[in-house]
Amino acid sequence: MDELIYKFKDIITKSNQIVAFTGAGLSSESGIPTYRGVGGLWTKYDPSKCANIDYFKHNPSLYWNFFKDVRYPAISKARPNPAHYYLVDLEKQGKLKCVITQNIDGLHQMAGQSNVIELHGNTRKIVCINCRQVYSMDEIYRRLDKVLPPKCNCGGILKPDVVFFGESLPTRAIIDAEKAAKNCDTFLVLGSSLVVYPAAQIPIIAKENGAILVIVNMDTTPLDRVADLVIHKPASHVLSAIKK
Ligand code: NAD
Repeated sequence: MDELIYKFKDIITKSNQIVAFTGAGLSSESGIPTYRGVGGLWTKYDPSKCANIDYFKHNPSLYWNFFKDVRYPAISKARPNPAHYYLVDLEKQGKLKCVITQNIDGLHQMAGQSNVIELHGNTRKIVCINCRQVYSMDEIYRRLDKVLPPKCNCGGILKPDVVFFGESLPTRAIIDAEKAAKNCDTFLVLGSSLVVYPAAQIPIIAKENGAILVIVNMDTTPLDRVADLVIHKPASHVLSAIKK
């Protein structure tokens, strides 16, 4: 067995209070493109426009075209991959306390994970920014051929229930994530570039409170130098190898 995988397996075996922190890279093997890294969406779409709240309020059609052409086709087809299922196994064994995710795709829940903290919301839920009426992603997608941007029955603008740049993270999620980070013995970063703040602060909190920090990500991250173990390989390969 690869030495790094062996070390990782040893850490998992000795840990009982694990917290996983997941990013877009974990779902890339489910067919959802990441923002950054090879093949990332931001090589083709301008993030300052597509995922910015001020721009969205000014011109919601840009986001909804992106949703219609790129986001919905990938997310509606995506299914959990072995990395998602490995985390469910760890939770069933009582080792994993929670998953903190930056992902907005709902794949952890689809895999059967029960304790998931969503830092950036979930794109499967669409909300009216005026009256807060909730719609499903599928229902709104079906309307887009006739009306774009889609509107609520009250006439308000519809927005996915996700945190755009320029918006605050949900307070409850941040409080729960920080608490989990302070109380874990091992903190696993899986498929995150760790450049999006304040989410990227959470692994630092874990490390400062004594947790072992493991990073599994294809590219280097700003926290590689402080981590106890770093593996630059696809997350599902690494987690499948550990499971064997
Ligand atoms: P990111 O796009 O900034 O970085 C993804 C990282 O994953 C890259 O560093 C890349 O090297 C790595 N990676 C790609 N494939 C991998 C694999 N198979 N195994 C391991 N690593 C892999 O993603 P992020 O750090 O999550 O951050 C930013 C934002 O992107 C979040 O706000 C999130 O909401 C949003 N996002 C979410 C999704 C999703 O829900 N699936 C998809 C794209 C972007």
